Amino acid sequence: MTSYLNIAGLKKVFGTFTALENVDLDIQKGEFVTFLGPSGSGKTTTLMIIAGFEQATKGKLTIEGQSISNLAPQDRNIGIVFQNYALFPHKTALDNVYFPLQMRKVDRAEGIKKAQAMLELVGLKGFEHRHPKEMSGGQQQRVALARALVFEPDLLLLDEPLGALDKNLRESMQIEIKRIQKTLGVTTIFVTHDQTEAMSMSDRIVVFSQGKIEQAAAPLEIYHKPRTRFVADFIGESNLIPATLTDVATRRAESPLMGAMTYGDGATKDLRDGQEVTLVLRPEHMKLSRTPIEGRFHATMKVETIVNFGDNALVIGKRDGTTLRVRVPGADVVILKEGDDCYVNWIEDNVYLVTE
Ligand code: ATP
Repeated sequence: MTSYLNIAGLKKVFGTFTALENVDLDIQKGEFVTFLGPSGSGKTTTLMIIAGFEQATKGKLTIEGQSISNLAPQDRNIGIVFQNYALFPHKTALDNVYFPLQMRKVDRAEGIKKAQAMLELVGLKGFEHRHPKEMSGGQQQRVALARALVFEPDLLLLDEPLGALDKNLRESMQIEIKRIQKTLGVTTIFVTHDQTEAMSMSDRIVVFSQGKIEQAAAPLEIYHKPRTRFVADFIGESNLIPATLTDVATRRAESPLMGAMTYGDGATKDLRDGQEVTLVLRPEHMKLSRTPIEGRFHATMKVETIVNFGDNALVIGKRDGTTLRVRVPGADVVILKEGDDCYVNWIEDNVYLVTE
């Protein structure tokens, strides 16, 4: 399948600082793609280059095979929503949404009709004549979304649009944005540093770190098959166990901390005996017990802290000075208290190998 938006060899240098290096990405029509990564990893810079507000130092950008690199932002047909809504304070909701159509010289009667329909789609029917200051943060953000969508953009760019909202509103807006995006089928790039938001909303997540793409894949693939140590650590919780490969043919590794074990899935290319690797063990894939569970790999651990969440609990323990995190069903934690010695148990299928 040919891609809709193609980003090839993107590089951005600010003075002597390289903010982006070798960014390659293909986005399909109608896809909802999230840029996820820590602060300063290059998400916004990439978005601003796509929008045309920043000039790339190197690289190519095309939509349906046509270069957009030399187009001014207003000529790119891209809708954008920022964290701070940037609505016109003296215009009503309706006029805010009509504005991009006015800029495109759409006849007022027809434009107002479109703006009304868009306000209805974002759930703001009846709010047409309110000014921004008469609306809540969530409502203002819906107006901003309607304004970004009303001219039927080729691409919708959302830069932390929910960052200023409280948790409940944030969650309901996540569902709303997803619904609206699906209804219109608009190709969307969403920037966030909130991994649950990325996991729940995206068709694909692009993980950024230090100006590079670490992995671009579907949410569950990112979670279950992290390509690098960074992704394993950044997405969800992980125990990252340094180890040495002892026999690649039989998938054996030796960890100074956890002992000898076999591993399941993970990197398969260019592996050799003696190679230093990282074994990823997710906290929810390990079991705790008073005595070792037969048929499983196991190691002892001293319980330091138990954090109860009701339906589950996070048990944080130490083994040889290293912290281990195990997540257990809430009912299971009653067998343990802080200071206890216990066993951590796991199986080969739960051990994921990363080499980078
Ligand atoms: P956040 O989640 O904090 O928004 P981000 O991943 O979006 O982070 P960017 O805003 O893309 O990160 O910034 C990437 C890097 O480029 C950062 O180190 C930032 O300081 C730097 N940077 C961004 N804009 C400029 C600029 N105009 N001049 C110099 N450095 C810049």
